[in-house]
Amino acid sequence: MAIASINPVTGEVLKTFTPLTDGEIEHKLALADRTFATYKYTSFAERAQWMYRVADILEAKKTEFGIIITLEMGKTLKSAIAEVEKCAHLCRFYAEYAPQFLADTPVTIDAGQALIRYQPLGIILAVMPWNFPFWQVFRFAVPCLMAGNVGLLKHASNVPQCALAIAEIFHAVGLPDGAFQTLLVGAERVANLVADPRVKAATLTGSEPAGQSLAAIAGHNLKKVVLELGGSDPFIVLKTADLDVAVATGVTARVMNNGQTCIAAKRFILEEAIADQFIAKFVEKFRALKVGDPMQAETDVGPLATPQILQELDGLVKATVNAGARVLVGGYRIKQEGNFYAPTILTDIPLGAPPYQEEFFGPVASVFRVNNIREAIALANSTNFGLGASVWTKDEREIELAIAQIEAGSVFVNSMVKSDPRLPFGGIKRSGFGRELGIEGIREFVNIKTIAIA
Ligand code: NAP
Repeated sequence: MAIASINPVTGEVLKTFTPLTDGEIEHKLALADRTFATYKYTSFAERAQWMYRVADILEAKKTEFGIIITLEMGKTLKSAIAEVEKCAHLCRFYAEYAPQFLADTPVTIDAGQALIRYQPLGIILAVMPWNFPFWQVFRFAVPCLMAGNVGLLKHASNVPQCALAIAEIFHAVGLPDGAFQTLLVGAERVANLVADPRVKAATLTGSEPAGQSLAAIAGHNLKKVVLELGGSDPFIVLKTADLDVAVATGVTARVMNNGQTCIAAKRFILEEAIADQFIAKFVEKFRALKVGDPMQAETDVGPLATPQILQELDGLVKATVNAGARVLVGGYRIKQEGNFYAPTILTDIPLGAPPYQEEFFGPVASVFRVNNIREAIALANSTNFGLGASVWTKDEREIELAIAQIEAGSVFVNSMVKSDPRLPFGGIKRSGFGRELGIEGIREFVNIKTIAIA
């Protein structure tokens, strides 16, 4: 895949980039390695000052960065700006709490003293996706840098201007050269980077095949990885739910980011008693969504990021319909320039059709009916993914059952699944392993050193 910015609204090639040569990659690796030798001794206070300045730049230039995001991957400008603001919040969160999260922890033992110290590992490689091209990178980079590690970013090949803008922000605040660098390289260069002895660990957010490939190389080289992969999150609505709020939230949870979110609600599992009512309101709201130019304030849904994603989504919808499902709204590519797909709801989905196991990365909701909470949980768990789940009910027993039995990295009750710097984020099953964010996230890439003094 060429490294290029291509506007998903028009297909226009905005800018192309020449991938780094072997010599340039080596130069950056060597610089990162040299930088770590001194960066690891910087204090939390120094690192925090850099992160506060990063937050200030993000806020001051949020519209400028938002425009780059929208031009490269097509999300609405308002959501791109919100993404940049969220990154600023993340910087301030870890600037404030990293010292506490990584403070020495005393432990009582039989004799003498013991404590746990959290020390940085070295160069951490991040392989990142285009769908939240600022957020995904910051949620790796900020805890990485606050912990005293140095970061190398291999961003998705369709968001190079975002990658360069982020590197420039870290440079502008005076972070030591080499503490955070971006490598404009294709996916085929990742294997050598992971294998390089100077790289101590890696994190990848992206698709299952990319995760498998990176994990295999990391395994061969005995390096730790964190994987944040795909999802097919259930959105379970039971009969005591506040239906209007559930419907409105369900629409947002499905179509935000033009439907290209790992934790988007993808499978709507409805208790029979409220299914007809929910579906009628849901369809009405889908019909009212305004699809169009993501730069316009009134647009709800912009184009998909690439023609390939559009083609894959269209293929999955067609396969589901061919298997016997019914389209309630949408179900087609919008016949105009750009990667536009109509917001779509599928129902009467036969067992084994794609929505049961595939991730629909676009504004397509699949609707299922069940008789009770037990059937809902069984259906929710009948996928290989296990990222997040949203459950709507006022019944305490149902809430407990959902929390206890849903196989996912998170369960949100009466709200949609979302990431928050304070809460660990990640999945189980084929959605990956390890956690980002929260105290757990910053402790993924540190040496948890046990110290015992007799
Ligand atoms: P992708 O094709 O897997 O790409 C993600 C990154 O991996 C890109 O930088 C890509 O580089 C690189 N890559 C691709 N194949 C690779 C390989 N064989 N070895 C090493 N690196 C490789 O995924 P995407 O289409 O950009 O993103 C969509 C996927 O990400 C969805 O499945 C979504 O659910 C998932 N996602 C998960 C989370 C989460 O937190 N769990 C968050 C966001 C997205 P190139 O661009 O150069 O190919």
